[in-house]
Amino acid sequence: MEEVQRTVLLASPRSFCAGVERAIQIVEAALAQSRGAPVHVRKQIVHNTHVVRELAARGAVFVDDLDEVPDGATVVFSAHGVSPAVRDEAARRGLYVIDATCPLVAKVHSEARRFAGRGDTVVLIGHAGHEEVEGTMGVAPERSVLVQDVTEAAVLELDDPEHVTYLTQTTLSVDETSAIVDVLTQRFPHLKPPPSDDICYATTNRQEALREIARDAGLVLVVGSANSSNSRRLVEVARSMGTPAQLIDGVEDIDPAWLDGVATVGLTAGASSSPALVDDVIAHLSKLGPVTVIERTTAVESIRFALPPQVRPHL
Ligand code: SF4
Repeated sequence: MEEVQRTVLLASPRSFCAGVERAIQIVEAALAQSRGAPVHVRKQIVHNTHVVRELAARGAVFVDDLDEVPDGATVVFSAHGVSPAVRDEAARRGLYVIDATCPLVAKVHSEARRFAGRGDTVVLIGHAGHEEVEGTMGVAPERSVLVQDVTEAAVLELDDPEHVTYLTQTTLSVDETSAIVDVLTQRFPHLKPPPSDDICYATTNRQEALREIARDAGLVLVVGSANSSNSRRLVEVARSMGTPAQLIDGVEDIDPAWLDGVATVGLTAGASSSPALVDDVIAHLSKLGPVTVIERTTAVESIRFALPPQVRPHL
């Protein structure tokens, strides 16, 4: 096969965000403390098959439901957060809970609690079935309504349209969300926004960095798992710019046909994907021919979140 000279445009920021790093550290610390007793994790700690597989290999037991956790055992709540009903159930069962909910998801929960508490309907913009959405909707289920897209926004009916606030999932497309908010605002002029953007810094930064590479690439590869919301949004944003884009869990998913005639490959990774997986992709492309890697940086991230008290190192 003839060697093809390629340029790889590497988006920065990419890969792990502060909330994902914190969640992984929490499970690692819980495993280190457990002295042989299993550490259960409710749902995937973050939406990435590699992360889950590695932690499972080190002893973490991933479960879908608290029913699968023995009474009194240790359970870690995932970065996506849980509803108050799940917390209550854990307390009732005497489980030792270590909460890895990302502080930026917890922020949306506290907004939902506050706005529902003052009598507003909370319109949550997000995707049905996503764990974060289940958790946030569960904060005030009787006062919350989910809107997934502009079509649903256009037909939404509210009993009390004068008292309504919208919140969003943290990992949505910035542009798509703003289109949904526009429709809602036209229909409900009293609609109030959250005090600060709910789409988190990591999601926003990765989408902005992606735009910088997608405009000059013949193909964009996004490293991320199929259930990773922010990774899927990166693929959609690239495609919305007219650039072919593929979501890959790892290097093994790359179809050589995608690379035919592509001299410039854009490369990024969702917030739950390890930087090592990106390195693997570059190594793989380098085996197909000479590669020049150019990193385009649109933001520098320095955010770090403190660990919860149960696993905080003693200084
Ligand atoms: Fe937190 Fe955003 Fe990362 Fe989700 S993507 S874990 S909300 S920082």
